[in-house]
Amino acid sequence: MNDEELRLHFEELKKELNGKIEDAQLMKELNTYINEYRVTAEAAKRGIRRKYGADGSSSFLTADTLSKKIEELKGTEINVDITAKAVYVDKKQITVRGSPKTIISGILGDETGTAPFTIWEGENVDLEKGGVYLFKSAYTKLWNERVQINLGSRGRVEKAEGIRVDVPERTITLEAEEVKIGEIKEGMGNVTVTGRIMSVEKRNITVKGEAKTVYSGIMADDSGKIQFSAWNDHGLKEGESIFVKNAYIRAWRGIPQLNLGDKCEVSRVDDSFGEIDMTVSKKTVADIISAGGGLDLSVTGTVVDLRAGSGLIWRCPECNRSVLNGECTAHGRVEPVTDLRMKLIIDDGTGAISAVVNRQDTERLTGITLAAAEGLAKARGNPEIVAREIAELIIMRRVTAAGNVLSDDFGPMMIVSGVEIEAVDVAAEAEKLYSEVEAAL
Ligand SMILES: [Zn+2]
Repeated sequence: MNDEELRLHFEELKKELNGKIEDAQLMKELNTYINEYRVTAEAAKRGIRRKYGADGSSSFLTADTLSKKIEELKGTEINVDITAKAVYVDKKQITVRGSPKTIISGILGDETGTAPFTIWEGENVDLEKGGVYLFKSAYTKLWNERVQINLGSRGRVEKAEGIRVDVPERTITLEAEEVKIGEIKEGMGNVTVTGRIMSVEKRNITVKGEAKTVYSGIMADDSGKIQFSAWNDHGLKEGESIFVKNAYIRAWRGIPQLNLGDKCEVSRVDDSFGEIDMTVSKKTVADIISAGGGLDLSVTGTVVDLRAGSGLIWRCPECNRSVLNGECTAHGRVEPVTDLRMKLIIDDGTGAISAVVNRQDTERLTGITLAAAEGLAKARGNPEIVAREIAELIIMRRVTAAGNVLSDDFGPMMIVSGVEIEAVDVAAEAEKLYSEVEAAL
């Protein structure tokens, strides 16, 4: 970025920060993040605002209602309309704050798929199995790898008169393109692929009340790896390679999965992959956004923001959901347990990705233990202090994070299984740059 452009961003920030940082320092930091670390200007500004307390910036939620089919739901919608058939309905009472509450749950289905739903204010709602309904202003969450449709006090449910919804068995197309595993993306439909079975296990599951056996594991070639599920016994063995014709791709939140269904042909082959590297694949954020997600990916970038929900949080002891004011949305009043986490935004210059870091890594990277966080929150009478302390320590640091990447409306999100801070110390770098400039004057 040239000086003139940089100057524009500088002027914008300077106004907002209103003397909280010296001009030279602000210019230095902007320059470092944009030109050295290749962070986008927006991300750099967001990070600097955050660091120097001119926040109020990073809300990218919009409240526009959308109408969506079930398959289009990502698990992050905050205001969505859904017209679907109630495939299964269950009404029950739970106790919240000592008073009874009626909850209706079940399964909704349309032409594109099915999803569980919950109506949290079910007192005056009548829902019949087989009926078609419009769920207005619903929101969605992701739970146990499935999108859940929720209707809170803001939403309502109406009978969709005269609308017919067919809920078919899954539909598949029959053209099967031959692909490398690393090229497989969500929405691909049917594929033909050659891969080596890296692991396989037999599991017994229940599908629509029927006991089934599924053989699932990881298949890989020299371009990547993918989870597979085989619905028939092909006698798959670890270490052997197979040529699979007409498998179909289903994605769960952006992570493509290979399904070997009834229409699939499997034959044993010799492959030419050589040694397959099963460690993480290094990617740019742009690559990940284009693929939608994937297994064991790694990115290196700058932490430009800490999302809400970071720091000291409380979880339901029964279901592990995070709870507010001691009340779990599913279990009512509970005695919550504390936890620590970070929801980072990592920017590598090609794009930004969210990354959720668990307690162990949060403690290790920040040096703030859960016990210390609890003590701090208690001493200050405010748990939010913990996220603020963490932000000071982590924002604008360079990190390498690895894990599985899912996709939602905010873009890709990594469930971090390993993270390290890069040796580069941003403050020291800025200092160095600053003294070089000084020396040149
Ligand atoms: Zn719970």
